[in-house]
Amino acid sequence: MGKKKSDPFSGQRIDPTSSKRHNFPTYFLIHRISSDNETFHNVSPFLVEKGITSSVGEVKSTKKLRSGDLLVEVESPKQAKQIAKLNSLSTIPVTVNPHATLNSSKGVISCGELLHESVEKITEELSSQGVTHVRRITIRRDGQLLNTKHLILIFDSAKLPEHIKAGYMRLSVRPYIPNPLRCFKCQRFGHSKTSCRGTLTCARCAEVGHESNDCTRTEKCVNCKGEHTSFSRNCFAWKQEKEIITTKIKKQISYQKARKLVKSQTPTPGNTYVSVAKKSISAPSADSNKDISTVSISEPSDSTTRAPPPITNLPISASPSVAPVSEEASASPDFTDFKLVTNRKKAEKGLSN
Ligand SMILES: [Zn+2]
Ligand SMILES: [Zn+2]
Ligand SMILES: [Zn+2]
Repeated sequence: MGKKKSDPFSGQRIDPTSSKRHNFPTYFLIHRISSDNETFHNVSPFLVEKGITSSVGEVKSTKKLRSGDLLVEVESPKQAKQIAKLNSLSTIPVTVNPHATLNSSKGVISCGELLHESVEKITEELSSQGVTHVRRITIRRDGQLLNTKHLILIFDSAKLPEHIKAGYMRLSVRPYIPNPLRCFKCQRFGHSKTSCRGTLTCARCAEVGHESNDCTRTEKCVNCKGEHTSFSRNCFAWKQEKEIITTKIKKQISYQKARKLVKSQTPTPGNTYVSVAKKSISAPSADSNKDISTVSISEPSDSTTRAPPPITNLPISASPSVAPVSEEASASPDFTDFKLVTNRKKAEKGLSN
């Protein structure tokens, strides 16, 4: 525990006094009330700025979303309270609500001592530190789901704490980086089957019109055109997608920005991605995608859950020799010491929920 020190490159905004929690929403949506469906698209930026500062003071940031609503990040609990009560900006009637997803964050802790505690109990014990939900990561081994010592915590704040106290133990919290979401219908990344507007495409052969279950054709990936299934972890597109998500979370930037950044750093699919990325100092945790391991993490919330191949985002021995990027690799939250679990004695055996 605690062997990972925080580093300035993680992009994670960490409160230096990490025991102090910010249990207040920091992101608010300001929606314009208008019978003509007018939005903030046609409101003077001066007016908006003035309206905000005059009612809650200087805020951390204000952005206009594509919807025409405003996204405001506040600085203090006091501002959070004030802004939540607003019903007009200057003369414009508005509604203000905490943003639905931005005010929470996900982190991973690893603690063998918590292996036999129920997630309900853990949630209860950690709730005073802003934890609202706990899920245990399981691995699939020989067709069996086994519990691990890794827990995914949801916090009620956009800022992930650096540490958390579980009883007498001080545990470091790493940002949780999910695997890419792959659609089971069209096999593309970034959406799920239920919201798919694409065409049914075979995950095995990339042909349209049939499912992969009974398909025996040659493997071809629809995303990178490589000679593997669309659920292969050797897929260039999958690795790149993972890289984008990692960058997004670590740098706390939008998906679009992260995508741009990653694309600008990576070669075209024809090239070998990993070899080039390795040379690039700025390519964050390129190595972390490389390791193939035997564990699989079951991810119920992820559309890849039912996909056959295991999740292998384990930067285990992510080449510690690569000094310039090693802080990226070692800071990688992707269950860094997962390998330990797979190797670890019988601790994992005979575990109950
Ligand atoms: Zn789709
Ligand atoms: Zn097929
Ligand atoms: Zn591929």
